[in-house]
Amino acid sequence: MGEREELVEELRWKKFPVLDDGFVCLVDVMGDDSSVVQAARVSYGAGTKKVSDDRTLIRYLLRHRHTTPFEMAEIKILVRVPMDCWRQWIRHRTANVNEYSTRYSVAIDSAQTTRPDEWRSQAASNRQGSGELLPTDMGEKLTASEQELHALTKSTYEARLEMGVAREQARKDLPLATYTEAYWKIDLHNLLHFLSLRMDVHAQQEIRDYSRTIGEQIVKPLFPVVWEAFEDYRMGAMFLTRLDRELIARLMQSAGKEGKTPPYSKADFLTVQDETWKELKRCRERDECFGKLQRLGIVAE
Ligand SMILES: Cc1cc2nc3c(=O)[nH]c(=O)nc-3n(C[C@H](O)[C@H](O)[C@H](O)COP(=O)(O)OP(=O)(O)OC[C@H]3O[C@@H](n4cnc5c(N)ncnc54)[C@H](O)[C@@H]3O)c2cc1C
Repeated sequence: MGEREELVEELRWKKFPVLDDGFVCLVDVMGDDSSVVQAARVSYGAGTKKVSDDRTLIRYLLRHRHTTPFEMAEIKILVRVPMDCWRQWIRHRTANVNEYSTRYSVAIDSAQTTRPDEWRSQAASNRQGSGELLPTDMGEKLTASEQELHALTKSTYEARLEMGVAREQARKDLPLATYTEAYWKIDLHNLLHFLSLRMDVHAQQEIRDYSRTIGEQIVKPLFPVVWEAFEDYRMGAMFLTRLDRELIARLMQSAGKEGKTPPYSKADFLTVQDETWKELKRCRERDECFGKLQRLGIVAE
């Protein structure tokens, strides 16, 4: 067996745990880093071989969003995931899916539970996100009531089945925390798109846990060169808009004239902000821009 086959065999069916009772595991893989290179060389011609080695070519393709060569590789995974997380996952339409049927079979007897130290507050700044962790004494109450609720929905479900209610109807009050399982097959291009959205800090923590596991435990070993480029040019990259760029230029110029050095103050930033932001009390785009400049060390709060 070659090195590649050994790696694939080692990974196949290996369950990487996620959350309290979820997992992801590789079922099949088609292609490797060289499949991307091979496809690209068909479009760009044999000459490419001379000017760039495989790594350089992959990095170029990813940097410049030449996406189709990445569609030549595919992975199929089996996932066990709570329904609420799966609801977000399934929005990615470019995958092929077969999900466990709770019309046909009895629902998986497992619901995701939350430990007392895992409850998160509502984020103050972002309506979609979480803020700080809640105090553990509050968490204990929340976990206890979660257990009660899960026990009630489980016993109600089981009683309905015993009374002969159809599985498709009996399930209707099961919590969104109930685990489901699915085969999920996707090409590498669309997988990277999924990972870039779902590993991002704006995604919900639970789906981030899944996508990070898929990325780091499965994609990284199977496609090391693509993964390296993905981390450099997608996950580790920063997108600057025209407004951001022009603001930076103005900031450098005006602060430079005054002999200031970075990091510049929030007041300096506001002085050169975009004209269209000036009248706004709250402006998400301005906040985002400030955040980017903070990460670059150009401004400080
Ligand atoms: C942080 C976050 C918050 C979100 N909040 C919400 C929300 O509040 N409400 C909500 O409804 N959704 C929400 N979504 C889901 C989001 O709008 C997308 O539906 C989801 O992320 C799938 O992205 P996608 O369509 O790019 O992916 P895929 O479905 O995998 O598609 C990949 C790409 O293929 C192309 N494509 C696929 N299908 C089509 C098509 N039919 N027509 C044209 N192009 C197509 C597009 O270029 C697309 O980007 C959220 C997503 C994230 C990451």
